[in-house]
Amino acid sequence: MKIPSVPKARKLNSLSPSLYEALLVCKARAAWIAFGEKGAMPGRPEAILGSCFHDVIAAAHKGTLLHGGADVEEEARRLFDLKAQERFQKAHETLRAKFRTKEHLPFYHLQRASAAALARKVSPESGVENAGKRQGLQHPARLIEQSLQSKDEMLTGRADLIDVADKVVVDYKTRQEIPGQSEEVTDREKRQLRLYAYLAGQNGITVERGVVALASGRKLSVDLTEAQVNAEADAARAALSRYNAVVAEQSDFEELAQASPINCQYCPSMILCSRFWQTAKPSWEEQVGKHLSGRIVSITRAQLQGVELVTLKLDEVSSTFAIGKEVMLEQVPEQWIIRDDDAPLLEGSLIRVTHVQVAVSTAEQTVLRLNRAKTEVWMLTPHHHQVDS
Ligand code: SF4
Repeated sequence: MKIPSVPKARKLNSLSPSLYEALLVCKARAAWIAFGEKGAMPGRPEAILGSCFHDVIAAAHKGTLLHGGADVEEEARRLFDLKAQERFQKAHETLRAKFRTKEHLPFYHLQRASAAALARKVSPESGVENAGKRQGLQHPARLIEQSLQSKDEMLTGRADLIDVADKVVVDYKTRQEIPGQSEEVTDREKRQLRLYAYLAGQNGITVERGVVALASGRKLSVDLTEAQVNAEADAARAALSRYNAVVAEQSDFEELAQASPINCQYCPSMILCSRFWQTAKPSWEEQVGKHLSGRIVSITRAQLQGVELVTLKLDEVSSTFAIGKEVMLEQVPEQWIIRDDDAPLLEGSLIRVTHVQVAVSTAEQTVLRLNRAKTEVWMLTPHHHQVDS
């Protein structure tokens, strides 16, 4: 398994809502999303399940869960299992080492049940979501996961659902509601909905309202005025033009990286971004979480139920959270460490670790543990050592 290298930034011909979001914070992040090695990162289990959820809801909207008089929820669960199995088989080796089967992915059964319940609700013949005036309307009245492009081809996007009759665009989100906490459409979601509305308008479809539909079935709604929608499209075009002007002069990933606690939150290329590791400080913890880099000074091996575990003592540690003088990373399954194919785990190796958990921390010692779903442990190559120094 190879550690991916950072991509060279190139000109972007068009902008999707996700690339637009990346460009708003960091050009290097956008370059990774557009030109990075696909499948090189383990990714998150929730991303796999989120894609399966969307597959099921799209199929429900299209009415393809209704064949042969089958029960919609049963068909939805069957499709969810099928898609999850396909994605799990293609998933990164490290993710499959952490979770033995697709059913071991966190919240598998919850997401599957949510998808099935929502599928029943939105399925065309259920008579719940589609009652009344929509009866008799066929699919041309609704665009389901259809790719749209602006007339100048600079903006692209694929909304989950555009209901032409109701002039509404719907985006399904798998985030779970927190009991007692009021939910609202986030700024990011508003920008996304405005761009979808703009693309619909460019294709002759009027959209006046945006809906974020949560996995629970709850809907959060915002009005989308023509002025807001056009302003967002103008802002996206401007971001694209600025990026292209910069990369025409400077294509180096590290030079484009704009590291800050806000920008680097949730960044998918954090592990490869030397600028982040050179800049991050313990004061960044609240925004970015707990990450560290360091050199292995000793390795202690053990076996637990047939699993090879290593405990690593680290020095030269830099971190996004406060640590003691001595840092120990405990009980890491060796299979979870991402490295170049033939690189053995050696004392002296430099590692980067993301999303660790602190078991104990004093001024003298910090003991760290892993989070199965979130932590990644990467062993770096001599090339990375040079870039970092
Ligand atoms: S880690 Fe930060 S600086 Fe690096 S690419 Fe991501 S957002 Fe940009």
